[in-house]
Amino acid sequence: MAAATRLISRLTLVTGGGSGIGRAVCQRFASEGASVVVADISEESANETMGSLSGDLRGQVHMAAVVDVSSKESIKKLVTSIQTHYFQPPSVCVNAAGITQDEFLLSMEEEHFDRVIQVNLKGSFLVTQAVSQALVACGASKGSIITVGSIVGKVGNLGQANYAASKAGVQGLTRTAAKELSRFGIRCNCVLPGFITTPMTDKVPEKVISKLQSLVPLGRLGEPAGQLIRLLVKLNCLFSLHVCYSE
Ligand code: NAP
Repeated sequence: MAAATRLISRLTLVTGGGSGIGRAVCQRFASEGASVVVADISEESANETMGSLSGDLRGQVHMAAVVDVSSKESIKKLVTSIQTHYFQPPSVCVNAAGITQDEFLLSMEEEHFDRVIQVNLKGSFLVTQAVSQALVACGASKGSIITVGSIVGKVGNLGQANYAASKAGVQGLTRTAAKELSRFGIRCNCVLPGFITTPMTDKVPEKVISKLQSLVPLGRLGEPAGQLIRLLVKLNCLFSLHVCYSE
């Protein structure tokens, strides 16, 4: 199948689709023929992403939706509205919603620890569970769920005890989901990006960015639409193994 149409007729849900990596995923998947549900906590940014999607290929219908991935109720509403709209659950789901609330461990507020875990880790669990439940309930023969971890979950990072813990958790969650859901034809993979230029990294002080850049062999941060996206598209077409990746 030609690369440009290899995701034709795939209904894809992207959380965090209103910004950064999630937005680049929506754009690439749409350009490869998928119908995309752009879900984000911000309605405005979800709509903005939707307005940027190509939709020239047969049967492509995109949708923007508001969701708070840390709320089971909100995810239930989202999955129901997708099924009402498309008469099927998404067969591809990319969990790109995420936040940082950086502070050094010695002064980190408990609520900042909890919030990052709730959005990044519990959010990935709730979305993975809701989508796989819907796929199993409708007897779908296959599905692909992708979570977004981070290199920080493997090696840690100053000021990111909460974020590093959440992303390490996302890996464990995904490895387990892959083992449990394979018998339903649902593949689960976790990608571990290095540092990518997005609104999330825009918050990082310049001197920290320079330090990080010096650790990257190419001497620069990755781009949201770079190699990472090529890997994500491949995961939906080819791979069936858990993949750990760092750009
Ligand atoms: P981003 O540009 O900030 O995008 C994240 C999106 O998720 C934003 O639109 C954000 O909305 C949304 N969001 C936040 N909380 C949410 C919630 N509770 N429910 C639904 N949506 C929510 O960040 P990004 O850099 O693209 O990050 C995407 C994913 O990649 C995250 O999981 C991040 O941890 C991971 N990652 C990023 C990097 C990097 O270097 N950029 C590296 C490794 C992993 P608001 O803007 O309104 O909060």
